[in-house]
Amino acid sequence: MTTTEGAAAGTGPSRVLVLNSGSSSVKYQLLDMRDHSRLASGLVERIGEETSRLVHTPLTGGGGEPRERTGRIADHEAALKAAADELAADGLGLDSPELAAIGHRVVHGGLRFTEPTVITDEVLKEIERLVPVAPLHNPANITGIRTAQALRPDLPQVAVFDTAFHTTMPEYAARYAIDVETADAHRIRRYGFHGTSHAYVSRKTAELLGRAPQDVNVIVLHLGNGASASAVAGGRCVETSMGLTPLEGLVMGTRSGDIDPAVTFHLKRVAGMSADEIDVLLNKKSGLVGLCGDNDMREIRRRVDEGDERAALAFDIYVHRLKKYIGAYSAVLGRVDAVVFTAGVGENSAPVREAAIAGLEELGLVVDADLNAVRSGAPRLISPDYARVAVAVVPTDEELEIAGQTFALIDN
Ligand code: AMP
Repeated sequence: MTTTEGAAAGTGPSRVLVLNSGSSSVKYQLLDMRDHSRLASGLVERIGEETSRLVHTPLTGGGGEPRERTGRIADHEAALKAAADELAADGLGLDSPELAAIGHRVVHGGLRFTEPTVITDEVLKEIERLVPVAPLHNPANITGIRTAQALRPDLPQVAVFDTAFHTTMPEYAARYAIDVETADAHRIRRYGFHGTSHAYVSRKTAELLGRAPQDVNVIVLHLGNGASASAVAGGRCVETSMGLTPLEGLVMGTRSGDIDPAVTFHLKRVAGMSADEIDVLLNKKSGLVGLCGDNDMREIRRRVDEGDERAALAFDIYVHRLKKYIGAYSAVLGRVDAVVFTAGVGENSAPVREAAIAGLEELGLVVDADLNAVRSGAPRLISPDYARVAVAVVPTDEELEIAGQTFALIDN
């Protein structure tokens, strides 16, 4: 696996634009890989609607005030052009000779893409072939790539895949126990997502422990609005909680996570729901929002503190699922050196961390209440010195990882 640390700074162009194109949004960040500094970041959302919004934040020289533009931005091409205009206004235009490459987050790389890959026509065709297994994500990524190529046809464009880090999972972890011919005909298997974050955070955790990645076994809990766990043995992913799609696994902001698949037939046969309606129910109206009406953990904790029973039950279900995964992945790894929390909830919610680890002393897991209460943007331990297994908080940085992997690939 290529790493940000592999990105040796030469004398040539050293800036990388990272693009994360969703179905109706584009997030971007411009980084300088010479010193890993951030030059600008931005978000275009509600693309195609009358209420489109672009927020651009200059980050050079101590940063500037975010600039906001509202009003219809018709499509991804217009969105990227608008972002390029904002960058140009800061003297960071896409025509700059300092720009070395564009790194694209691509959600699904299937089994074909196990590493970041320079985008050629053949690569783009392969990403298109994966649309049937990632119908919600890959089309937007492809649009982002095509648009960026049209703007700077001469510039290397690199795809960094969310699934790549998980391609090391052994077959017995990746395969569902269903008919092999049916599974293979439709490429049904467990792929896993958030791989860029799991890769970055597991490596940073080894650094925090002062050990080499190949010497440590880590359970990573990426708890954002989407959430996934992974078991990483010696730097290689051996198990992860998301599957064919990001629906499997942990309870998330709006996704159910693990569920008896028979619930879906039941909803079809008994409730008369269509496949699309069930898809929306499980992906958008379930998880925390389905259980209590809120998907923001801050709001849920505020309601719990006020004695709201629905919020308390939602919190307990969320934490119970986390505990089950920590236990399962401890068994998968055999020896665990660290359990690490990351992303919006993992980095910020001390109550989630405390509750998820509570009662796991037999697994060597203990949280120190004072360390857990510290608010910080730095990687840190929250377990006491005597604990057999480290518990840590390590902020994720998917943009830096994508930029690092992109730069490492083209800078030679
Ligand atoms: P992400 O997808 O990583 O951006 O995480 C977004 C989620 O993080 C939000 O939906 C919140 O539930 C959660 N979050 C963000 N800030 C906090 C905070 N200070 N305390 C608790 N949860 C937070």
